[in-house]
Amino acid sequence: MSLPCRHLVVVLGDQLDPQSSAFDGFDAARDRVWMCEATEESTHVWSSQQRIVQFLAAMRHFAAALRERGLPLDYETLREGGLADALGEALVRWRPQRVRLTWPGDWRVLQALRLAVGDTPLDLLEDRHFFCSAERFARHARGRRTLRLETFYREMRREHGVLMDGDGPCGGVWNLDSENRSAFGTQGPGFLPPPARFEPDALTAEVIALVRARFGEHPGQAEPFGWPVTRAQALQALHQFIDERLAHFGHWQDAMWGGEPWLYHAQLSAALNLKLLHPRELVAAAEGAWRAGRVPLASAEGFIRQILGWREYVRGVYWLKMPAYADHNALDARLALPAWYWSGDTPMRCLSDAIGQTLRHGYAHHIQRLMVTGLFALLYGVEPKQVHAWYLSVYVDAVEWVELPNTLGMSQYADGGLLASKPYIATGRYIERMSDHCRGCRFDPGQRTGDRACPFTTLYWDFLVRHAARFAAHPRLAPQIRHLDRIGPEERAAIAARAAWVRGGGLG
Ligand code: FAD
Ligand code: SF4
Repeated sequence: MSLPCRHLVVVLGDQLDPQSSAFDGFDAARDRVWMCEATEESTHVWSSQQRIVQFLAAMRHFAAALRERGLPLDYETLREGGLADALGEALVRWRPQRVRLTWPGDWRVLQALRLAVGDTPLDLLEDRHFFCSAERFARHARGRRTLRLETFYREMRREHGVLMDGDGPCGGVWNLDSENRSAFGTQGPGFLPPPARFEPDALTAEVIALVRARFGEHPGQAEPFGWPVTRAQALQALHQFIDERLAHFGHWQDAMWGGEPWLYHAQLSAALNLKLLHPRELVAAAEGAWRAGRVPLASAEGFIRQILGWREYVRGVYWLKMPAYADHNALDARLALPAWYWSGDTPMRCLSDAIGQTLRHGYAHHIQRLMVTGLFALLYGVEPKQVHAWYLSVYVDAVEWVELPNTLGMSQYADGGLLASKPYIATGRYIERMSDHCRGCRFDPGQRTGDRACPFTTLYWDFLVRHAARFAAHPRLAPQIRHLDRIGPEERAAIAARAAWVRGGGLG
């Protein structure tokens, strides 16, 4: 039996930073790092192959870097079962005086590991990869009847001195979102700077082969794989984004175009969530680029709002409200997720494009997630838990603290308006305006009844009918509800019949 160690430092798959709090005071002579690839992390939801490769490849590169630096490491390659059992065995092996763990990104994992350590003292440490701690967010929330991003975002800007000009915001306004909603127009985006993609090295190629062999029946595909899996690659991706795409990011933030998965987006969420990058680095780089006159304020502010605003805000909501948050279903949505969410095999062009690239790359940008896949599930009436399981499965950046509030709160309004002030609903006209999808689609976004009616448009009106009582007095939805007055009984019946056709499997 091996000698007992002082600290067993647990490093989870989304904690790949040697500067994180669990490493504070690490003594290579007395302490040991423990990492484990547990299959349950890929099977508790039906993780896509791309997502599994992302996590395992990044973990193995991180482990290699630790070994190179001479840190004692107990690294368990893919083993059946959960993290808790594996940690239990590691505790028997190393008999540490204390276990050190940076706060995990998933409530389920936190509970499991807490139980697993048993009587061994556990140091649960602040995750310094965020601007706002859970405790700081709780202070923000205290005494407020509603939580709103804008209030929180301004607090964060002031507190961290980001894009500030004295006491006020640079440029005189806090939020330049109104400048960030352009579509590409009929000619499309034109030349797009190529995204930062990285050829798999031997270690990543080994992981790809493992995932194909062990998780080959999981959704999506393991290849091509080009995501950053090391800090050096993540930094390169960050610099490339700042130099080549940030200038146009704001303007085209909400635009979509068929067959163009990357556009002007950062594609940095996975690197951030795995802690290969620090959000402060992104915020400083974006602000620096604006101050140097290289990018417009609307782009820098739009990007910073996502990181310092939304990303921190959803994490705050997650830790404030879990575990009850996961059970919310304010709109009483009960239907099963259509099976084609796992294949992209649907005649609706917008959805087949968004789901197709999701399964190929583990990626879709925000508007595709919110206003295509999310919007359809919301209007259709899918049970929020099933929508949540899908989003957690398919994206390379999916970790529950960020995925769950975005899905349940922002996209499905399942929390009844805690996170977002209103449900994000629209007809197919929104997708028509923001993309080229409708041009080649067999449906017509302008029609709500009949054989060519766009399912989004039909389900939008059906949603208003179904939830009219709930939203009749809602300050922002009431005008939409009032439009129902202009629809006579015959047309209402036709909408209901068409909605029943969509839900009854008419789309395949
Ligand atoms: P960009 O569009 O270039 O944005 C820059 C960065 O801002 C992102 O890298 C991300 O870190 C941050 N960001 C932007 N919007 C948000 C947001 N709403 N919440 C948190 N951070 C944000 N993001 C995840 O990281 N993981 C998820 O599992 C996830 N699930 C989502 C599910 C739904 C239903 C929705 C609507 C959004 C989800 N998002 C999630 C937020 C957002 O869609 C992704 O962060 C973004 O698309 C990642 O691509 P990007 O790096 O190119 O982002
Ligand atoms: Fe999507 Fe409707 Fe447009 Fe077809 S017509 S691409 S289903 S919004």
